[in-house]
Amino acid sequence: MVFDQIPKMIGFIYALVMIVVIAYLWYSGQWQQKIGWLVLVVSAGLGFLIFAPVVPWQFQQIVLRDEQGLGAPLIVGVIGLTFVFFLTLILGRFFCGYLCPVGAVQEIAYHTPVPKTNPHQKNAFMAVRAIVFVLFLVMAFILSASLLAGFGVRDFFYLSLTAGTFVFTFIVLLSITLYRPFCRLVCPYGALLSLGAWKSILIIQRTDACIECKKCEKACPTDEAKRNDGKAECYLCGRCVDVCPTPGALIYKRRNADGNK
Ligand code: SF4
Ligand code: SF4
Repeated sequence: MVFDQIPKMIGFIYALVMIVVIAYLWYSGQWQQKIGWLVLVVSAGLGFLIFAPVVPWQFQQIVLRDEQGLGAPLIVGVIGLTFVFFLTLILGRFFCGYLCPVGAVQEIAYHTPVPKTNPHQKNAFMAVRAIVFVLFLVMAFILSASLLAGFGVRDFFYLSLTAGTFVFTFIVLLSITLYRPFCRLVCPYGALLSLGAWKSILIIQRTDACIECKKCEKACPTDEAKRNDGKAECYLCGRCVDVCPTPGALIYKRRNADGNK
């Protein structure tokens, strides 16, 4: 049940504050996965309670020039989303990893203890999302139509009984075994944030303590744990760090000038 009378700005401010808090906890070595769980549950809950901070939807409403659907003047939305992009450029994709309700419900579903499908096809996934991004722009600019409505993003969180809700429910069920199919194959705003994360200043990186056991690479659901991976699709989920047998071999730190080595 979404309470439309509660300002969506509350969800947006929550996201901005938590991006910085989570990044600080990672950087200072105080991050714990149980904190991540708590944040994911709160983020998903905010999605159902106030439909915020569903920034991919807000990005779409900006492209559609729909101030009413955005719930704020267009210029405010543009400034807000640009700010999230710049935070990603500095800190990585913490918004996607923990704050976006759309991402949070998929992340929570993926924790279901069943065998996982990991096709190790990062580039193919990104190529599909790039094609969907073009489709998103064509639909918005030429047809004034909403791609994300077709995927049921809004209807799912409003608990509406529509075809779209069934589509997004299917995506969430798929997320039980395939990591974040919506984020990795569809999300237009995620496509932009991946560009920021690809060049972000801070990333999870190996140190000299690494013993090359490659456990992190096997554990990573997005194929981003190899030494030279750019981290565009790293959601800072922490699975690589959790499986690493060598303390201090993987840390969140400034990207090396010669790349992620
Ligand atoms: S990729 Fe899109 S849907 Fe997924 S977490 Fe990021 S903004 Fe949200
Ligand atoms: S396992 Fe590590 S490299 Fe892979 S997405 Fe999660 S945090 Fe990023």
